[in-house]
Amino acid sequence: MFTPPKPGSKIIIVGGGCFGLSTAYALALKKKYEVVVYDRQPIPAPDAASSDINKCVRYDYGDQLLYMRLTMEAMSHWHQWNKERAAENDTPVFHPSGVLIMGYQGKYGPYEEQSMQAIREAGYGHAIEQLLTPEAIVEQYPQFEQTVKNGYNIAYLNKEGGWCNSSESVKHLHGKCVKEGVRFVVGQEQGCFQRLWVDDSNSTTVKGIITKDGNQHAADMVVMASGAWTASLVDVQDQLLATGHVVMHFRPDESTRQTMTDQPVWCADIARTGYYGFPVNSNGILKIAHHFNKGYVHPRATDGVSIPRTQVDHSKDTIPIDGLEHARTALAEILPMTSKMDITYSRVCWYSDSIDGGFLISPHPSYDNLVIASGDSGHGMKMMPVIGFKIRDVIEGVDSDYTRAWAWRATPKNEPNSKDTHATLGDEQGGRFATKEELRAQS
Ligand SMILES: Cc1cc2nc3c(=O)[nH]c(=O)nc-3n(C[C@H](O)[C@H](O)[C@H](O)COP(=O)(O)OP(=O)(O)OC[C@H]3O[C@@H](n4cnc5c(N)ncnc54)[C@H](O)[C@@H]3O)c2cc1C
Repeated sequence: MFTPPKPGSKIIIVGGGCFGLSTAYALALKKKYEVVVYDRQPIPAPDAASSDINKCVRYDYGDQLLYMRLTMEAMSHWHQWNKERAAENDTPVFHPSGVLIMGYQGKYGPYEEQSMQAIREAGYGHAIEQLLTPEAIVEQYPQFEQTVKNGYNIAYLNKEGGWCNSSESVKHLHGKCVKEGVRFVVGQEQGCFQRLWVDDSNSTTVKGIITKDGNQHAADMVVMASGAWTASLVDVQDQLLATGHVVMHFRPDESTRQTMTDQPVWCADIARTGYYGFPVNSNGILKIAHHFNKGYVHPRATDGVSIPRTQVDHSKDTIPIDGLEHARTALAEILPMTSKMDITYSRVCWYSDSIDGGFLISPHPSYDNLVIASGDSGHGMKMMPVIGFKIRDVIEGVDSDYTRAWAWRATPKNEPNSKDTHATLGDEQGGRFATKEELRAQS
């Protein structure tokens, strides 16, 4: 039976990304645990999902009120982090640029309708500005003239949303953890979790972890916050699946850059297309990503479990050719100016998908002292400042709406990692990586 840690307990957290750091910080504030974070890479790990130039921060969550509320709670913390940064003469981590949420052909879809309704009912209606005609959108955002002409001609702006510089956010929270006394062990040998160290006489008790260098590290509680790697590190009984998703960078010319710097994050009928993009950042980079249901899998030879394949071990990897072709076709309609731009950098970024798109933050049912803090399903970054407090509730056995929603699911339904259901990364059926030449502008 799961037993919350007693005062004085040593808690090992595996993974120093968004979920792991946030948990470490929340635990350390209590001043009653010894908290140690292990990561296989220096933090921020270059291939972690949380390592990126930007991620969208929005509380527009359709009818998913739990995540809307949690992101609303995170907003004041994002602003507080900016104040902490300003006090140290650092750049802000959160940019409240607004988020422009576009419908299609004069209609909002259920996602947009439900989001606006839920936001208003929560008392945040002041954040919504509707742009109900093509003219209204183009007047405010002339850079989207072609987008509007191509059908994305109704929109609303959530004025409180925006984007975070996620790698900088990770660095910021890492610094806060260090100040609160969290200890870090990082590196490909000493920081890399190999397997659980389980008591031979009582296989439900975790004694600690064993790292790649062969050393054993004792702990009273182990928290697996290892993102998309989690399902390949411990048996999570098909609750989680690592899936890869396409990220692309463009470098617009100087005049385009100027028009696309001071603008909101945009989502183009996202429930249907999956495409969203960011303002051009201070390094002149325009990032566009594709959030789609299935993603790519990368089955491990020994057991078929999908395991992230990243540029840390495969530095020449780009994005799969079918993902590139899909993006070029979709963006020719959504943001036609990109057709004339080379893709200057691309990457497959990994979600830890749960069976229902909700987080999996729960005691592991096979152990007395193991917590899984994963299943981000591609939408956890925006909650980084507060997610750790909710994960701490799970660790301490506190009952809440969150702990109940994120509990171990009764009937896992994750589809097997077969080529029939998910495209396989690196295979010749469309999962092969695009060449540099193919990433160039085609027109
Ligand atoms: C393409 C893409 C776009 C996204 N866009 C958004 C967005 O716009 N807004 C949003 O809110 N969210 C977004 N997300 C989701 C967000 O990035 C994740 O929800 C969040 O990063 C999850 O954090 P995590 O800590 O679970 O995983 P990660 O950030 O991946 O961290 C996992 C950590 O575990 C470490 N680790 C792995 N294996 C081991 C091991 N064996 N030993 C030790 N350490 C290990 C890794 O090195 C890493 O540091 C996006 C994700 C992707 C992939």
